[in-house]
Amino acid sequence: MSDETPICSAKGCRAEAVWVLAWNNPKIHTPERRKTWLACEEHREHLSQFLGVRGFLKDVVLLKEWESQDSPSRDS
Ligand SMILES: [Zn+2]
Repeated sequence: MSDETPICSAKGCRAEAVWVLAWNNPKIHTPERRKTWLACEEHREHLSQFLGVRGFLKDVVLLKEWESQDSPSRDS
């Protein structure tokens, strides 16, 4: 296991992240670009709502699944 534990992106939260929220702001990002936020179980809904109301949210994936599909050899 890596020594760097992924931590929830919510303000002030130090909980271990379980979810990845993939998002894109069409005003500043190209359509295929994905920004990611990490979320613990508790903040997943809060953070996805924040992105959802702005129309930024693209995907919510378990961190384990995200890491397994995001291989270094993946083409952009
Ligand atoms: Zn959290």
